[in-house]
Amino acid sequence: MPLPKVELHVHFDGALANDLLYKHLTTNCDIESLPNDVFLPWEPDEPLQVRSLLQSCKSLSEFNCLCQCKGERSLNAMLKCFEIFSPLVRGQFGVVVNQLLCCINWRPEWADEVVELAKEFRGLPSCAVVGVDIAAGEEHFDSINFPALHGPHYDAMQKAASMGIPVTLHAGENADPENVRKAVFLYGATRIGHGYRASDDPKFLKNVCVDRNIHFEVCPTSSLETGGWVGGEEATDWKKHPLVKMLKAKCSLSINSDDPTVFKTSLNEEIGIVRNDMMIAEDDIRGIMRKSMEASFASEETKRSIISKLNY
Ligand SMILES: [Zn+2]
Repeated sequence: MPLPKVELHVHFDGALANDLLYKHLTTNCDIESLPNDVFLPWEPDEPLQVRSLLQSCKSLSEFNCLCQCKGERSLNAMLKCFEIFSPLVRGQFGVVVNQLLCCINWRPEWADEVVELAKEFRGLPSCAVVGVDIAAGEEHFDSINFPALHGPHYDAMQKAASMGIPVTLHAGENADPENVRKAVFLYGATRIGHGYRASDDPKFLKNVCVDRNIHFEVCPTSSLETGGWVGGEEATDWKKHPLVKMLKAKCSLSINSDDPTVFKTSLNEEIGIVRNDMMIAEDDIRGIMRKSMEASFASEETKRSIISKLNY
């Protein structure tokens, strides 16, 4: 029997199949409706030439090489997609799917609306919104240098907490480990997306993360690709990955694919890396799956039902 799996950190817009997107592009997509270019806050001098990049794509393999999902998808559109997608996968494959709504670091003006949407759609079975997150950078943690990013995001997370909406935050991915501390103590997060930069501080792992049961959503391939974790000098020595340190410190953690399309991976491949390259035993991987489910923001009933399937 295959290992039952739990995944807590996979971006919907990073998980669309490339062949379906390419088919859409070459059949019924109005290229003129796409933005000509997109401003990237982290590359202010080089807007992304979306339309010409897509127009120059002559095959699926060229499209795969682009490996980016930059369509202008609004939160409302995403929610609609999810309402179609979620019942399909639930019914056909026995998969239970919930979603987090993600604020975007560089879009502070969206933060309050994201929390309002989470409130509105929370508890709607077809929509299954269970919490909120902030992705695409960590500058918002820096109230001194980025006050315009910090204020609205901090306020939005306070609002979420006051409404009882669970919070997980991307923090310590490839930025200041102090952001993990801020995520927990300032923003009220109970889960951390990535958090690799905090893994070299055993006291922090023990005194904060273990004692407060803070859960780490670890994404192995993503961590290597983004520079969140810098592997060994010659070859990638996965046995030195932060996941191994976190596990040794008895932290609660999960294994995730993050953006499987972007990173050309899957949950199965990520579990394979943990098993075969990090040399984590099968029993420990089962333990990780149980901890993942315990840390999920699903209803208690859903959690009990899935944990009973994991405990065979
Ligand atoms: Zn992420």
